[in-house]
Amino acid sequence: MKFATKAIHAGVFPDPSTGAIMTPIYQTTTYVQKAPGDHKGYEYSRTQNPTRTVLQENLAALENGSYGLCFASGLAATDAVMKTLSPGDEVLSTNDLYGGTYRLFTKVFQKYGLDFNFVDMSNANEVGQYISDRTKLIWIETPTNPMMHIIDIEAIVGLAKSKGIKVAVDNTFATPFLQRPLDLGADMVMHSVTKYLGGHSDVIMGALVLNDSQWAEQLEFLQNASGAVSGPQDCFLALRGIKTLHLRMQRHSENAAAVAHFLRKYPRVDQVFWPGFEDHPNHVIAKKQMSDFGGMISFTLKGDDIEEAKHLMTKFKYFQLAESLGGVESLCGHPASMTHASIPREERIKSGLLDSLIRMSVGIEDIDDLVADLEQALS
Ligand SMILES: *Cc1c(COP(=O)(O)O)cnc(C)c1O
Repeated sequence: MKFATKAIHAGVFPDPSTGAIMTPIYQTTTYVQKAPGDHKGYEYSRTQNPTRTVLQENLAALENGSYGLCFASGLAATDAVMKTLSPGDEVLSTNDLYGGTYRLFTKVFQKYGLDFNFVDMSNANEVGQYISDRTKLIWIETPTNPMMHIIDIEAIVGLAKSKGIKVAVDNTFATPFLQRPLDLGADMVMHSVTKYLGGHSDVIMGALVLNDSQWAEQLEFLQNASGAVSGPQDCFLALRGIKTLHLRMQRHSENAAAVAHFLRKYPRVDQVFWPGFEDHPNHVIAKKQMSDFGGMISFTLKGDDIEEAKHLMTKFKYFQLAESLGGVESLCGHPASMTHASIPREERIKSGLLDSLIRMSVGIEDIDDLVADLEQALS
């Protein structure tokens, strides 16, 4: 089955009792048993729920993995992964990490004895020196947020495999339509389903996909034992969103390319960060491991004035000022005062996250309207 067919059909079947073509929302907590222990595979909805099962199988198929697990949010999914580690274990992670993941690692799990090392992985050759005997997991995010660095998944896997270290990839920005880390040798994919997979800014959810049956069993245990599961209504919405993932990602990518090229020519704009530019430092890797460049871009203004950037963002008509990304509608955000405000300014600037940096999640509206909106705001 090819990707677009999987998005619509994988794991999905007509409801056996009525023939309903859409997976029903099994809004139930429990399931009647014929005799004690004699049931149809469902006992209690924290443990299993039929709507969730269909979504989990669909997600596993999209990422070419064997096991899919859904959680109440992307961070709940990551939380479960960290709980499979033990005190003294070390996680090597990218330095340009989603802020919530950084907070979970440093403010929650560090005090339980896990160690985290955040390093620049945009040059994979330099990552080996940070691996120690205690390194158990490498956690990658690519493209990164908001600087749009690209990390070479295959090269990192190459470093990790011989040492028995697992590699997990946060594939939220790319989605399996553009990038399939398991095919590149990674052990696990994590998703904030909240973003492109859900795609309509109406669901908070997370997911994991993997092949290792033992690790999957541990995670299934944690899904039930810790209980941060996604509800059936949310699973239905995610399934509905995924049915158009391929079409949306094509349009997101096309529109972002057009916006990136427009911005780059605009006199007031300084730098545009988009991996599709041939002179992007990681363009070659992006081309190798992604089928297109996705819907995210960021840019800075000449003079790097924070007030000017903030003012500009109140002038957009279609690029709504909001956190999050990956919905059908275009959004813009100002990392310095929003998502990354908690990082000290000096550190922020050092990692290239300038005062005037604006991040855009380019939606699937008509590109003429989006470009006209940018033009009127910038002028
Ligand atoms: C949003 C996001 C997360 C966290 O997911 P939630 O669903 O908000 O918990 C993790 N990684 C990336 C890259 C994200 O954009």
